[in-house]
Amino acid sequence: MKKVVKFGGSSLASAEQFKKVGQIIKADEDRRYVVPSAPGKRNSKDTKVTDMLYACYDLAEAGKDFSKELAKIKARYEEIISGLKLKVSLDGEFKTIEKNFKDKAGSMYAASRGEYLNGILMAAYLGYEFVDSATVVCFDKHGNFDAEKTNKLMAKKLEKLPKAVIPGFYGADSDGKVVTFSRGGSDITGSIVARAIRADVYENWTDVSGFLVADPRIIDNPPEINTITYTELRELAYMGASVLHEDAIFPVRKEGIPINIRNTNKPEDAGTWIVESTAKKSQYTITGIAGKKGFCCVNILKDQMNSEVGFVRKVLQAFEDQNISIEHVPSGIDTMTVFVSQDEFIEKEQAVVSEIHRLAKPDMLEIESDLALIAVVGRGMKSTRGTAGRIFSALAHASVNVRMIDQGSSELNIIIGVETRDFEKAIRSIYTIFVDTQL
Ligand code: ASP
Repeated sequence: MKKVVKFGGSSLASAEQFKKVGQIIKADEDRRYVVPSAPGKRNSKDTKVTDMLYACYDLAEAGKDFSKELAKIKARYEEIISGLKLKVSLDGEFKTIEKNFKDKAGSMYAASRGEYLNGILMAAYLGYEFVDSATVVCFDKHGNFDAEKTNKLMAKKLEKLPKAVIPGFYGADSDGKVVTFSRGGSDITGSIVARAIRADVYENWTDVSGFLVADPRIIDNPPEINTITYTELRELAYMGASVLHEDAIFPVRKEGIPINIRNTNKPEDAGTWIVESTAKKSQYTITGIAGKKGFCCVNILKDQMNSEVGFVRKVLQAFEDQNISIEHVPSGIDTMTVFVSQDEFIEKEQAVVSEIHRLAKPDMLEIESDLALIAVVGRGMKSTRGTAGRIFSALAHASVNVRMIDQGSSELNIIIGVETRDFEKAIRSIYTIFVDTQL
């Protein structure tokens, strides 16, 4: 078996954490390809090395003295080196970094050094080969990730290496300029490596024991989800449930490789399995609930809208022209509603309104703000009678006024729009009916 193991920043924040990681890797000889993040926070008041690097580079770019800041970053690594008694010196690396900062190598280069240096330490600690991601993770001239080129290069490189450390988060374009993924992007690197070596599993080690059924800031101690499909995860992640970077599922999905979210501080926990498809039932009728505040909607009314060919297109055109992405479009016979993100919309609302009038000539148009969307997701809903009924009766009992209902065609999710002030109450009532009653 071949396993790719990715460790997040909090799993590698100190020598103590490195030791736990070392034990986890040594406990299973299939754990052969390791993708580290940069050192994260050691406690809640601490700063991630990636953030320190961005701040340090800002000074460099402004032509200010950054030596103190760089020394603090170096100290983070020195602490790990001495705690692990490694015979490695990063003096040369820091000289190069200092020079490149002075030469304004770019903030992506700067941020990438967090994972690069941690990769060097990890490789020394484990006795694994170090592979600089700039040589195997490819971006095009516009900074877009080139999945196929990367896959070929990475597969070729790792074919010859039975064990390797490949730092997360960055790669390079064809000119050799370092490019990073968006924040949290080491998850993507792990997935890319797993695809390239056709791993049996991609283990993503973090500081929680998996995906939770609901947001712990709203629900006390929600249980972990045992198994979730890629599609269910996409739905929940889109609505704000975050453990894994949103784009991390795409590379492994191509090869049907499962992801196992694990907890470095509780390695005995089974964690959450993210799979393409499964015969396993979820613990409850629903797999999870997630939601987001900050939406508004535009209600449009026009008599006999249903028989006017092209009406919906014209309305949506007005949003497209202003480059606003649309969340949901529930409709009636003479009405349609367009849900959009409030922040994105607010600046351009009047331009959109006048364009809707110009293109579609509605009888009435009205904007409502401060709405929230809640996604109730579950592969089990399709085959369970009465799920929607239970959701809406729970909401009615909690006196939540439902403003919008949208059931995806896959019957995998039901999206509910509520007023922002009802958001937490709505989530709690749905959670109670499915999880507390164990059905
Ligand atoms: N170190 C980067 C960040 O803080 C990438 C990662 O940890 O995945 O965003």
